[in-house]
Amino acid sequence: MKIAIIGAGFGGMAAAYDLAKAGHDITVFEAEDHAGGLASGFKEPGWDWSVEKFYHHWFAGDKHMLGLVEELGWSDKVIFPRPYTVMHYQDKWYPFDSILKAILFPGLGWGFNKLRFGLVGLFLRLTNNWYSLEKVTVDEWMRKWAGEKVYRLMWEPLVIGKFGDKYYKQVNMAWMWARIKARTTRLGTFEGGFQNFADLFAERLVEMGVELRFSTRIKHISRQSETGSLLIETETASQSFERVLVTTSPSSLARLVTSLPESYLKNLLELKSMAALVMVFSLKHQLSNQGYYWFNLPKNAGFPCLALVEHTNYVSPEHFGGDHIVYMGDYLEPDHEYFKLSQAELLERFMPGLKRINPDFQPDWIKKTWLFSTNYAQPVPLVNHSRNIPPIQTPLPGLYFASMSQVYPWDRGTNFAVEIGRRAARMILGS
Ligand SMILES: Cc1cc2nc3c(=O)[nH]c(=O)nc-3n(C[C@H](O)[C@H](O)[C@H](O)COP(=O)(O)OP(=O)(O)OC[C@H]3O[C@@H](n4cnc5c(N)ncnc54)[C@H](O)[C@@H]3O)c2cc1C
Repeated sequence: MKIAIIGAGFGGMAAAYDLAKAGHDITVFEAEDHAGGLASGFKEPGWDWSVEKFYHHWFAGDKHMLGLVEELGWSDKVIFPRPYTVMHYQDKWYPFDSILKAILFPGLGWGFNKLRFGLVGLFLRLTNNWYSLEKVTVDEWMRKWAGEKVYRLMWEPLVIGKFGDKYYKQVNMAWMWARIKARTTRLGTFEGGFQNFADLFAERLVEMGVELRFSTRIKHISRQSETGSLLIETETASQSFERVLVTTSPSSLARLVTSLPESYLKNLLELKSMAALVMVFSLKHQLSNQGYYWFNLPKNAGFPCLALVEHTNYVSPEHFGGDHIVYMGDYLEPDHEYFKLSQAELLERFMPGLKRINPDFQPDWIKKTWLFSTNYAQPVPLVNHSRNIPPIQTPLPGLYFASMSQVYPWDRGTNFAVEIGRRAARMILGS
């Protein structure tokens, strides 16, 4: 079959791999001039490794992603350094990435609350019954089972940070379950950065006969009634395919395929999601003297964003010509004021956060900053969300859709992009 894939992110490339292996004629259309999608990276002259635009790592349990890397023969390029994640309590930072560290965390005292925190964590890790958890909100469930104090201190800042004031009370408990279930303290990356993996994967696809068309934004997809094939249009050209797999956001699918039935389009447009904004800094000096990697920043303590990540406390600054790489990022609604500020104005907002991590920090430590944003960063799963998941096979014959809006109950991630890309490929092969 002649098959088109829209998007050369990890999902689109995984699907292309399986479909090409099965002997089909595959063309991948990608709007950007490089592969990798949300997990792509950039490189400065003098850096051996790329830096992801949005901080990325793999978990040790990411079996779909790590399985694909193994199939491609690159497992020796996956590394699992041991970075430190820290929690904020009374203006101090405490490591919080093992059971022992959680026991030693002073915020919960030594009695009942700590026990409750531990039992709730254990229950969520052991249960597989996410379906009953999606019927309640994190807010209701955690207040009831973890208790007011534990929820306020440990979980509420996370849901507020991720989903903002508008949605945090509405997010369902299956989302929290999936986070706890899928995460490990060991965090992995690919030698050279995620972009290196994406580039190698793209090269492999080309060797397999896949046509990869970069800098080619698709504008419209429609079904030709005479032939039943799908017509893909860019600004300047058009081409017909027997099958098309779209891997963009739901709203982008709705814009691309206006002939989808109204009820399907309505469902796509009603799905809620968060945008994200990340500023990347290259610094002359290490920011966290203790070598901490991931700082969860509670907004109620006055921090300007949700996370501060010192990438070079995870992989060595040697790979970046001695630069120290720090991310400051947040999930926001697309109309948040941060998206209207200039890079210089945002820098003014974010810099006090750097100083709170290291009081010695001075603005002249900053060598360069980069600003990245995306409108589609995090689906928002409301109560009974499983009813709203768009099926991979759309009502338009021959048209398939596989995106992070459909990996639920799992939270988004490259691991699940690979899983859904390959699932879509199996459906196309069986069609
Ligand atoms: C802030 C942030 C942090 C994250 N952290 C992690 C992490 O630590 N670990 C992890 O595994 N995952 C993480 N993720 C999630 C991960 O990046 C995504 O789940 C994954 O990359 C999604 O892959 P995808 O192929 O489904 O979609 P995408 O990567 O979004 O790929 C879609 C592609 O389609 C292209 N496209 C869109 N419209 C068109 C068009 N009209 N024509 C042609 N091409 C088009 C886009 O340019 C893009 O390349 C993070 C995401 C964000 C935003």
